[in-house]
Amino acid sequence: MRPFSSTISLQEARRRLDAAVGPIARTERVRLEDAAGRVAAADVTSPIDVPPFARSAMDGYAVIAADTSAATRSNPVRLRLLDRIYTGQMSPLAIERGTCAEIATGAPLPTGADAVVMVEETAKSGDRDVDIFAGAAARQNVGRRGADISAGERVVSAGDLLLPSRVGAIAAIGCADVVVFARPRVAILSTGNEVVEPGQPLPPGHIYDVNRFTLGAIVSAHGGLPESHRSAKDTIEALLASLDACAQADLIVFSGGSSVGERDLVVDAIAARGEMIFHGIAVRPGKPTAFAIVRGTPFFGMPGNPTSCLSNAYILLVPFLRAIARLPPHAPRTIRVPLGRRIVSAANRHQFYTVRLRDGAAYPAFKGSGDITSLSQADGYIEIAADQSTVEDGAVVEVTLF
Ligand code: AMP
Ligand code: MG
Repeated sequence: MRPFSSTISLQEARRRLDAAVGPIARTERVRLEDAAGRVAAADVTSPIDVPPFARSAMDGYAVIAADTSAATRSNPVRLRLLDRIYTGQMSPLAIERGTCAEIATGAPLPTGADAVVMVEETAKSGDRDVDIFAGAAARQNVGRRGADISAGERVVSAGDLLLPSRVGAIAAIGCADVVVFARPRVAILSTGNEVVEPGQPLPPGHIYDVNRFTLGAIVSAHGGLPESHRSAKDTIEALLASLDACAQADLIVFSGGSSVGERDLVVDAIAARGEMIFHGIAVRPGKPTAFAIVRGTPFFGMPGNPTSCLSNAYILLVPFLRAIARLPPHAPRTIRVPLGRRIVSAANRHQFYTVRLRDGAAYPAFKGSGDITSLSQADGYIEIAADQSTVEDGAVVEVTLF
């Protein structure tokens, strides 16, 4: 056993992680249908006006506004009907004084017309005439050419998150693809002689791999591209070979072997290949977490215990990954509720304590760091500062929801 020489505070761990962020520079072109949630890598400028023509905003009649100024319900103005204009077609006729054309929402305004009277303010008189009951002002119910976007205008800036609305703006200007920052490639690997792939028979003394899947899920959810690697045995040779196999990744995440047992060799592997930035954080769960730079690539050594591993993935890995991916910080929802049962917290460690919500109160859900159900059966967690030892029954706590 090699005990931790010291641990650093959560705050200090966050500070060192922030300092190590290198936002991704690689870009790629994606089809618009795959663009949502990605980050634009270049400004997108419109080659066209949107709409590309003046169009009607209503179903009604395209008119010359001046013809209608005297119209009232009791004293309508009668106009000659020249044409019917549907969407997707240009009228070959020009509107002249005393005439109009029936027009659909979104159809191009015919030459000569400068306003649209909505159908509710009109009545057909036979097949050829229309009575107008209300005066229209010039440009009324008309969408000007370029009113939405004008040619040359920037619709998305480099660094913008492509929300559905921004995908829509790119679609509106006719671009079928967009240049985005590449998703960081995240190599994920479990260590431990006892770790077995789900779906395989379980030999005595073995357990199924949990961490590769929780880490993969969280990486996908926060802008990364998880790359699963075969789990590594607890030998220094196996770990070094695994580290080398992950060399192409933008971020490497191992789990297990980061504690202080004699088989916990991740620290030795890091010493051989890179520079340790910290090992051991004063948090619970998740104290034996390491962060290093391995030949220029950031490396997380997560605890093997599934709850410790996933808890620190939420708290440390997610912000780091999102910063590399150039995504805005994640802002989980929080609620304030009374605690349903007293909690005693670990001394001198910032605690992330999982809770379940029931009847408007939060109840402890934490079983142990090794139990995935500490998280899977919880709705969120509360934080208990390192210098606080108990949270009393009934105290109002802030729950961060998963
Ligand atoms: P370690 O951090 O390697 O000392 O492992 C701590 C505990 O977590 C041990 O009980 C391991 O068997 C368990 N463990 C390690 N890796 C995994 C994994 N990938 N999935 C589930 N449990 C694991
Ligand atoms: Mg292990």
